[in-house]
Amino acid sequence: MNYAYDDQNIFAKILRGEIPNDTVFENEHALAFRDIRPQAPVHVLVIPKGPYVSLDHFARDASPDEQVGFFAAVSAVCEAEQMPQGFRSICNSRDHGHQEVPHFHMHILGGKPTGPMLSV
Ligand code: AMP
Repeated sequence: MNYAYDDQNIFAKILRGEIPNDTVFENEHALAFRDIRPQAPVHVLVIPKGPYVSLDHFARDASPDEQVGFFAAVSAVCEAEQMPQGFRSICNSRDHGHQEVPHFHMHILGGKPTGPMLSV
């Protein structure tokens, strides 16, 4: 698979500081911020700082340090947002996954029941 990264995507602009964001957590390798159109009381996006298009791209090509840093951010968000009854994490990839922003991100949704996994 050839993953072509578009550095004009909106999350790349957020990482460059060209667009503001509501940051929840940041470390060397990842940034977590609130989704601009929240679909649950907690709706945070965790993104790597590196140029990865999708989950499969990140899983294949990110360094161990980048992968550890990303999941450290996921852990920090889950701790900070206090979701004792659980949450949903979603990574949409490409067209069939209904991905809108072509920079890998994990949605973390909680604060209310999130329903069945897929509506068909
Ligand atoms: P996806 O369909 O998985 O690519 O989701 C992209 C998400 O990015 C959507 O939930 C949008 O609401 C969110 N989003 C788009 N632009 C921004 C922005 N500037 N700040 C925060 N979230 C955004």
